[in-house]
Amino acid sequence: MTDRYCVLGNPVAHSRSPAIHARFAAQCGQDITYEAMLAPLDGFAETVRRFIAGGGKGANVTVPFKEEAFRLCTRRSTCAERAGAVNTLAFVGDEIFGDNTDGAGLVRDIEINLGLALPGKRILLLGAGGAARGVIAPLLVGRPAGLFIANRSADKAEALARQFADNGTVDAGNFAKIAGLQFDIVINATSASLAGDSLPLPDGIFAPGSLAYDMMYGKGETPFLARARAQGAGRLADGLGMLVEQAAEAFLVWRGMRPETTPVLAELRLQLA
Ligand code: NDP
Repeated sequence: MTDRYCVLGNPVAHSRSPAIHARFAAQCGQDITYEAMLAPLDGFAETVRRFIAGGGKGANVTVPFKEEAFRLCTRRSTCAERAGAVNTLAFVGDEIFGDNTDGAGLVRDIEINLGLALPGKRILLLGAGGAARGVIAPLLVGRPAGLFIANRSADKAEALARQFADNGTVDAGNFAKIAGLQFDIVINATSASLAGDSLPLPDGIFAPGSLAYDMMYGKGETPFLARARAQGAGRLADGLGMLVEQAAEAFLVWRGMRPETTPVLAELRLQLA
């Protein structure tokens, strides 16, 4: 029987994951199906159970279920434990295994696809929600000079800085607190771009040649990237590469093989143009 996979979210119709995994499966000669599945806001666990009963072997999890998915797991990877959130589920026998591949996806996109090594870099992470949580430990593994977490609600950023203090040099505060500082990599992990909002970033935070990275992706430049360009950031990147790389990590968890991401990313990029 063909193994079934899906992405669970609400909303989920916009997801590009089915297209990505169809390409991965064809490339790796894997006979699988992968669909987008809408879970009711109050029915995530029930939807997962029905999917397993129907032969489901694994699932990706997107907004707003990553923390609920974490609680549902019977076993989790170290990455998922650190993030407190799960974006990849694997169903093996009675076990529900949870992993978080967002951080690995981001780091791979920055280091491999964009060719920027993390050691010694000054990193600014904007946001303190689920996406930010998932990438902090993997970024710190790359041995940057330091990581500053800035968020609209400073208390959330400060709580994250305390939680990850043992993993590296981490500072935190609101956007005003980064005035006068400069960074080599500035990552937008807020959902402000989703609503078309700009962030109140102080002038002068982008070091010469710095990378501005927006986790959001879509047609055209996001307000964050437009602002970064105006403020002199050297390079701009959106989150499409992170999306494809986190999907490849999930495919590896499920099928034991890592697909070639370059052609898939190029194809998606063309579709967005
Ligand atoms: P959450 O809802 O968990 O967190 C939202 C964050 O954005 C919070 O820090 C919140 O601040 C901040 N925020 C929201 N609106 C504004 C605003 N107008 N001004 C300033 N700050 C704001 O969302 P996620 O962390 O799950 O997702 C964040 C983004 O990352 C989304 O755009 C998502 O699409 C993207 N993403 C991309 C991935 C990829 O593969 N490319 C993977 C995962 C996420 P506060 O705490 O003050 O409310």
